[in-house]
Amino acid sequence: MGFILELIFFIHYYLCLVAFSLFGLLLGVIKVKNNFTSKIFNRTPVEERKKVVIIGGGFSGSIIAQQLENDFQVTLVDTKDFFEFTPSILRTIVDPQHIRRIQVLHSHYLKHTNVVQKEVTGVYPRDITTDDKTIPYDYLVINSGSSYNSPFKESSVVASARANTLRENYYHIRKLKKILIIGGGIVGVELAAEIVSHFKGKEVTIVHSQSKLMNRFPKKAIKYTEKFLLDHGVRIVYNERVIAHRGTTFVTDQSSEIIADQAFLCTGIVPNSQFLKHTYPDSISEFGYIKTNEHLQMAGSTFHRNIFVSGDVLNLKEEKLAQTAECTASIVVHNIKAMSSKSGEANLQSYKPFSKPVIISLGKYCAVFVYKNFVFTGFLPSLLKEVVEFKTMVRY
Ligand SMILES: Cc1cc2nc3c(=O)[nH]c(=O)nc-3n(C[C@H](O)[C@H](O)[C@H](O)COP(=O)(O)OP(=O)(O)OC[C@H]3O[C@@H](n4cnc5c(N)ncnc54)[C@H](O)[C@@H]3O)c2cc1C
Repeated sequence: MGFILELIFFIHYYLCLVAFSLFGLLLGVIKVKNNFTSKIFNRTPVEERKKVVIIGGGFSGSIIAQQLENDFQVTLVDTKDFFEFTPSILRTIVDPQHIRRIQVLHSHYLKHTNVVQKEVTGVYPRDITTDDKTIPYDYLVINSGSSYNSPFKESSVVASARANTLRENYYHIRKLKKILIIGGGIVGVELAAEIVSHFKGKEVTIVHSQSKLMNRFPKKAIKYTEKFLLDHGVRIVYNERVIAHRGTTFVTDQSSEIIADQAFLCTGIVPNSQFLKHTYPDSISEFGYIKTNEHLQMAGSTFHRNIFVSGDVLNLKEEKLAQTAECTASIVVHNIKAMSSKSGEANLQSYKPFSKPVIISLGKYCAVFVYKNFVFTGFLPSLLKEVVEFKTMVRY
């Protein structure tokens, strides 16, 4: 009798278990099916979706295209056909193979975006123009970034040409004996460090117009960087500006003469906003940056609710960094989605500048990590920079 009761109990127990499992499975299937059907069938047909035109495919524009391409008709207009991880470009000057790790074609990571490799020449209330196209938009995002001297940033190139230029540049640098770097900001410092840690016997001179290298950074970071460069034989000339050159002789405003086979100009960036001059001149600041309100909508004498601005070209008092471009991009993505949803403009996010960590590379195996007044130096920060590069590139 006991055995029969036990048998009934077990059969009952296992039947319940199977029933509960089947019920759970059924709920799971229904949920997946609902998600699937809402994703696939309840979505607005592509041709009825709002049109978003994105100018520039750098840090900001590439993220915005990736994040909007499933819900909008997205067109990315960029003078280049690829995204490049600019913070590692100085490494490619001494190691041209590295370019393969930091470049990716827009067509590779954007599956539903119309990529147009053109220069935008005009912006109007409902469309933008290139030399031979007019592209209409409901929302426009300007991420045209900034220009820097060649070879550090290049406009209007295809990826293969860029790789060739960097390779030729490398063979050229290998032959040089005396190199002059004009400007002792982050780019000048990183370039000098890459050259002296990679090549033996080069005479590198930095001419800097200020009394300290990277003068906006904490004292400890400046001291460490200066010591690294001096220990590697770099000559640093402070408080002088190069004003002319005759052949291989470069002359400063203090009449110093520096002999160099080649000079690299590592001075400031220039915002790319010239295409707005014709139609929206009052939206451009004195130095060429684009004015916005706190929601990153283009401003001027009035504000333009459907034109957003993000990245380096923004008129914000903050360090021009890739991370800033990524942060402003995520605000723009949120705001475009909000504006085209039921919540509308009531749900817009604001952007306020804030301090971000910076890693200054001193060759492959040394770096300086700076966050506000915290400074951390040596091998670990250089490893961290590799991690940041890897983490960024796997996104594409
Ligand atoms: C040498 C160097 C080293 C750097 N190192 C670091 C670092 O270590 N850490 C860090 O955080 N930041 C670093 N930066 C800064 C960082 O690269 C920028 O802040 C970042 O690239 C800005 O991204 P963006 O999308 O605003 O613009 P960009 O990256 O400049 O991209 C703008 C894009 O718009 C395109 N474009 C411009 N005009 C037009 C037009 N009229 N029509 C169509 N397309 C157009 C350009 O070709 C480009 O593809 C460095 C910059 C340089 C130059």
